Amino acid sequence: MSNTNPPVISVKNLKKVYTIGTERVMALNGVDLTIRRGEICCLFGPSGSGKSTLLNMLAGLEKPTTGEILINGQRIDKMNESQLAEFRRTNFGFVFQSYNLLPTLTALENVEMPLIFRGTDHALRQKMAMQMLQYVGLKDRIRHKPTQMSGGQQQRVGIARAFVARPPIIFADEPTGNLDTHTTFEVMDMMSRMVKKRNSTMIIVTHDNEIAEYGDHIIKIRDGRIIEETRRDPQPPELAVPAAGQADSL
Ligand code: ADP
Ligand code: MG
Repeated sequence: MSNTNPPVISVKNLKKVYTIGTERVMALNGVDLTIRRGEICCLFGPSGSGKSTLLNMLAGLEKPTTGEILINGQRIDKMNESQLAEFRRTNFGFVFQSYNLLPTLTALENVEMPLIFRGTDHALRQKMAMQMLQYVGLKDRIRHKPTQMSGGQQQRVGIARAFVARPPIIFADEPTGNLDTHTTFEVMDMMSRMVKKRNSTMIIVTHDNEIAEYGDHIIKIRDGRIIEETRRDPQPPELAVPAAGQADSL
């Protein structure tokens, strides 16, 4: 049985052309895809194939040259900047390769940020942020600033921040690109487990075979096109991620 959940993202004939001087780069050259609720979807391909370009379009960070992007029934390619900003705030969480934490804020304050944007009151915000930091194993680092933490710890703060407001869709561009092998699996396990627990949807960009293994839906990209697509049944959390989690209350 394949995933029969409703589509959360669908894309039709997406193209993106970058022009630098007289040179034109066809970064995406006619992409069609559907991503369903509950999927971990990996955009997989070599460097320069167009993965980040595709993720940035899906996340409403860049406009397509032509084509349609429908997310939860809404045409995000038709939105203006302020509509997009609001849509991103309520629907998306982001995990970045270089963590992108605010350097002057503590771990706790960084994780609170998305809740501040949503107008969550202070007490609830702290409680939710603390819970997430506990889930990612950083209960004893909440007052640390980014420079006082290892790369793996910073990325765990990044994950806590991405998930804290319970967004239905998580975008992650090479989230383990700066991490060692052991930390890579820890971080992937944490994200996957949370996505499965909440039946949310995650789109991950990677060039790494082992990361693509986490995908229920793997989209292989070369030269701005999809060259192969594979789907398997979405895995229940206990199969997707063997480690026992503390995610039950999250
Ligand atoms: P990937 O994430 O798979 O490594 P990208 O999506 O970043 O690939 O890039 C796809 C192609 O588009 C590359 O040839 C890259 O040089 C080009 N490209 C990406 N972003 C820009 C940009 N802002 N301006 C011009 N060319 C770009
Ligand atoms: Mg990239």
